Amino acid sequence: MSYFLKRTENNLWHGKFSTFPDDIVTHAVSTRQGGVSHAPFDGLNLALHVGDKAENVIANRKKFAQSLGFDIADIVTPNQVHGEKIFRVDELYRGRGSTNYADSIPETDALITDTPELPLMLCFADCVPIFFVDVDNRAIGLAHGGWRGTFKKIAAKTLLKMSDEFGTRPENCLIGIAPSIGACCYEVGGEVVSKCKEIFPANVDELLTERDGKISLDLWRANVVQLLEVGALAENIDVAGECTCCNDGWYFSYRAAHQKNLDRTGRIAAFIALKADV
Ligand SMILES: [Zn+2]
Repeated sequence: MSYFLKRTENNLWHGKFSTFPDDIVTHAVSTRQGGVSHAPFDGLNLALHVGDKAENVIANRKKFAQSLGFDIADIVTPNQVHGEKIFRVDELYRGRGSTNYADSIPETDALITDTPELPLMLCFADCVPIFFVDVDNRAIGLAHGGWRGTFKKIAAKTLLKMSDEFGTRPENCLIGIAPSIGACCYEVGGEVVSKCKEIFPANVDELLTERDGKISLDLWRANVVQLLEVGALAENIDVAGECTCCNDGWYFSYRAAHQKNLDRTGRIAAFIALKADV
């Protein structure tokens, strides 16, 4: 496990994987500390579609991008729909969705690129962010895996798409599974349980745990399992192991908010950009 939090010069926090080489990529998971949004989006809400004031989200995005050495106008972000579409972006897409939600890459849950200095950003509140770094071919990816995306195997499909597009060898790709809801807090209902059994028949025992008659799902492991199936190596997959619901002072958590009778909350972001090859 190599995930750690680092305070930035402009008083934000970056969650980082120490396994990702700093000379190849700039990356971070945001936290909710240090932003300007008010409850229930307090404070660094980075999503435009959750009911927060756009001006506050844009101020937060500016500050977050700046903390990573970028301008808000560089960011590319999609409209996430719990699907399995993976989209390759390049210079033509710079800025898409950065300040206007309607302009986001439509209905897409993973972005990949080999364009340097083009930051990919996706938003999360309990769903699993999955980062991909292919050092050999200088390519990156970022995927959104809630239970639907995880069961559609979007993580595995993103890795295979990087293989098709960039020549990424799954066994060499570095992968990071960022903070998201852990099995500790992720009780699921009958529909999710039966889908899990259908999609991961060989892994039911490690993915589903029964306690006091309630069943919880390990989404982190479900993503690891599908990545191993397509050739990623266990030693290259880093699981942050941090539950957003247990740590909702640090991260936005849909489930933690719901338990507090809040019908809305903000979103953290996962952010990654390739550095220029100098
Ligand atoms: Zn938890």
